[in-house]
Amino acid sequence: MDADDFEKHGIEMVRYIAQYMRTLPQRSVTSDVEPGYMRNMLPSHAPIHAENFQDIMADVEKIIMPGAASPACTELEILVLDWIGKLINLPSVFLHEGGQGGGVIQGSASECVLVTLLASRHAAIQLVKPYPYIDDGYVLSKLVAYSSKLAHSCVEKAGMIGLVKMRQLDEDRRMGLIPFYVVATLGTTGCCSFDNVEELGEVCSKEGVWLHVDAAYAGNALICPEFQHLTKGVQNASSINFNPNKWMLVNFDCSLMWVRDRKALTSALTVDPVYLQHEHDDKELDFRHWGIPLSRRFRSLKLWFVLRCYGVEGLQKYIRRHVRLAKAFEEHVRNDDIFDVIGEVTMGLVCFRLKGPNTLTQRLLKKINSSHQLHMVPALVNENFVIRFAICAENADEKDISFAWKVITEAAECLMSSKSE
Ligand code: PLP
Repeated sequence: MDADDFEKHGIEMVRYIAQYMRTLPQRSVTSDVEPGYMRNMLPSHAPIHAENFQDIMADVEKIIMPGAASPACTELEILVLDWIGKLINLPSVFLHEGGQGGGVIQGSASECVLVTLLASRHAAIQLVKPYPYIDDGYVLSKLVAYSSKLAHSCVEKAGMIGLVKMRQLDEDRRMGLIPFYVVATLGTTGCCSFDNVEELGEVCSKEGVWLHVDAAYAGNALICPEFQHLTKGVQNASSINFNPNKWMLVNFDCSLMWVRDRKALTSALTVDPVYLQHEHDDKELDFRHWGIPLSRRFRSLKLWFVLRCYGVEGLQKYIRRHVRLAKAFEEHVRNDDIFDVIGEVTMGLVCFRLKGPNTLTQRLLKKINSSHQLHMVPALVNENFVIRFAICAENADEKDISFAWKVITEAAECLMSSKSE
């Protein structure tokens, strides 16, 4: 959607809302739809081709509005999470449709990691319930969770909040500790590297440990079949998340999370006062038990609009173009022997550095960012200070890559000449 289309449809949307406000007194206060009403009104798979905005708006009036706020909000979230789950080829156990699991939208990847840690902590504590003389607090002191060195800082934070030890992979059972939770990252923040889900999944499944897969950024690329091999072994994971607000043209916030066993999640998070109970308690999902907030925004609506406006093929085209541009940038770096590329370039991120001490690359980054023509963020990968070149803009093209490379090489030349003076 370009700026002109956005302006046009934005105005139509404001008119739609104004008309809703005018007709409010004539509308029913409650909806009379039955749980599951939406499944028969919408397709079971995400649309392949882009759809017309007017058609989507017609469905808002026909399908969403009769469900008023809450039923429609829950129903669309269930449906869209199943659409995307199928699109990224998740095993059917992670789907609402027919599985014991399902997907939910959280506000952030950090929240996904925290709630899955809380669910696995609950399950680990439940295991000693038959022994009433063992106190929950004692078990808590023995729990230990694991991640790899490059996991995002939100993993450490979840450990802090959940009061559990968090380590990089180690041998602990012998010391009386209880391994209960592992985070594997697909596409680390620092350099977009990939943990081996297949190997970790086998061990976790054998040991009864909850494996969470954090694919916050890279998970978006799974809508393209050529990247789906990266999730090999995911059938042994307990949960997975990715953020369409990072790389699927959905605005912040939108973090998708799937679990293989929804009961394992909700039993850790259910509190049920009288004022929240309702007649469909046993028939429909209540996403308030799937996360921390009680009040929930209608986030699936924006996801539904994006999927329909672009179609799966439009979104795939966008991801593939970004990957192609990252490869083009990588080639520039590899062809210039004052630079090194660090790690493999698989998605839209290229990590590079100047050969030599870290301080040189630090100074280069400072110079580039102070030009106000590009903005890049560093990372430390195996003690190497690297600059992260990430393709972000929706309509980035080859000209942008040439421009960026020009800014970078000019800054590097300036730095090198001042060094030799
Ligand atoms: N996990 C990974 C791999 C990330 O790259 C990031 C953010 O960059 C996060 C988690 C945290 O995401 P959020 O801001 O949605 O909590």
